[in-house]
Amino acid sequence: MNNSYHIETKCIHSGWEPKNGEPRQIPICQSTTFKYSSADEMGKLFDLESNGYFYTRLQNPTNDAVASRIADLEGGVGAMLTSSGQAAVFFAITNICEAGDHMICASEIYGGTLNLAGVTLKKFGIDCTFISVDSTEEEIEQAFQPNTKLVFGETVSNPALAVLDIEKFAKVAHKQGVPLIVDNTFATPINCHPFTWGADIVVHSTTKYMDGHAAQVGGCIVDSGNFDWEAHADKFKGLTTPDASYHGVIYTQRFGKLAYITKATTQLMRDLGATPSPLSSFLLGMSLESLPLRVERHCQNALAIAKYLQSHEKIQCVNYPGLPGDKYYELAQKYMPNGVCGVISAELKGGREAAVKFLDQLKLASIATHVADAKTCVLHPASHTHRQLTDEQLKEAGVSTGLIRLSIGIEHVDDLIADMEQALKNV
Ligand SMILES: *Cc1c(COP(=O)(O)O)cnc(C)c1O
Repeated sequence: MNNSYHIETKCIHSGWEPKNGEPRQIPICQSTTFKYSSADEMGKLFDLESNGYFYTRLQNPTNDAVASRIADLEGGVGAMLTSSGQAAVFFAITNICEAGDHMICASEIYGGTLNLAGVTLKKFGIDCTFISVDSTEEEIEQAFQPNTKLVFGETVSNPALAVLDIEKFAKVAHKQGVPLIVDNTFATPINCHPFTWGADIVVHSTTKYMDGHAAQVGGCIVDSGNFDWEAHADKFKGLTTPDASYHGVIYTQRFGKLAYITKATTQLMRDLGATPSPLSSFLLGMSLESLPLRVERHCQNALAIAKYLQSHEKIQCVNYPGLPGDKYYELAQKYMPNGVCGVISAELKGGREAAVKFLDQLKLASIATHVADAKTCVLHPASHTHRQLTDEQLKEAGVSTGLIRLSIGIEHVDDLIADMEQALKNV
């Protein structure tokens, strides 16, 4: 796609440019397999000697068109879709980390990623050091070990709404010869382009704003093509030495800037198989067409509601990086000047009892664990996601008993505020 196009245009046209008489919309190739007329032609595909489709676990035209749209939106050289955001994070890490390796991760991240890095990957022999997203360059550097292979963080973290100083983390990671992987789920490529600030790999849970309609779970990995794996060949042997499972192909030599994403597809997806259904990818591709409009409205509504709640007598405080005075306001202005995301959190005066009462009184906003779709939803962490914790443990986790998380949708903001107003009246 023409690189000078604006992102609104890319959201609609990237990844699929139909030729004469071809379908205008991305076709759904709901087929597991693809036919060839000679044994030799298909054999070449297995050796990665020629490019083509043969089995949907590895590649599928619908999935590839949508992946290529997302690659364009992020400004990357290639992308791979996965069946969930968790799978994207898992593949992004294990593509360059194996038993005996170590990674550094911002501690303000999605709970699923926290479990993956802190518990499950440990069982795979991959160690993780968690550091505060607010760490100084020196503190980040101190977390490095000789076997450290990557640094990981979220542009805007779910649910803490902390903003990662991408440039700072990238600078230290590169100084130490490893890539920075950024989960850009909450900001989306509409609000932030991590590659322009030095991130090397971007991951997404497309389940959130990209799908945006609470219709399907999915994920994506995007490769900037910028990290020089050969310059640190001893660290990244999986990319720079022969792969025995592909007749000794060396990914960096054969695929150059596409080495990382090609290995993820041809090796990890082949062996681990978290492939999205082509029908789901089609729906995702269609949702991406309206992403800029939706994200803009999510952000406008969230800012208006953050300001409304902040001025309400029954609200103790509001966390939203788009709100002047927020701890992360300056960083948000730097990395996401046009808007942050639609998720905010607020603390009610009156603790647990007030929060529960507020939720129960809401008529328009629904109680749901989901975030980042068209419909406004709310959650009370102390009763839901963090239910098993005692009040003491909640305090340690930085979750007060009166805290609520709001994922602001794209309804009319006046209706949302009226709903909150009547609910707060009864608290
Ligand atoms: C939801 C989420 C994930 C996990 O994605 P799933 O699609 O639910 O597997 C990862 N990272 C972030 C920031 C998320 O919000």
